[in-house]
Amino acid sequence: MSGPKISLSCQEVSRLLSDRQDETLPAADRARLRLHLVMCGACRNVQEQMDFMRRAMQQLGKESDGGP
Ligand SMILES: [Zn+2]
Repeated sequence: MSGPKISLSCQEVSRLLSDRQDETLPAADRARLRLHLVMCGACRNVQEQMDFMRRAMQQLGKESDGGP
């Protein structure tokens, strides 16, 4: 089956999320990504984990960066 590529596979979605490519994607691709996340609970979980990790990393960065 090979038609026009409308939807992303879970594999592609998790790769995009883990590579943080979702932030640099063209709007159309980002829309496909969001659409997939709306329909796919598994990838939503992946995204939540990535978000959590990102935030945790930012927190760590702030704390170890030594404020004023
Ligand atoms: Zn998925």
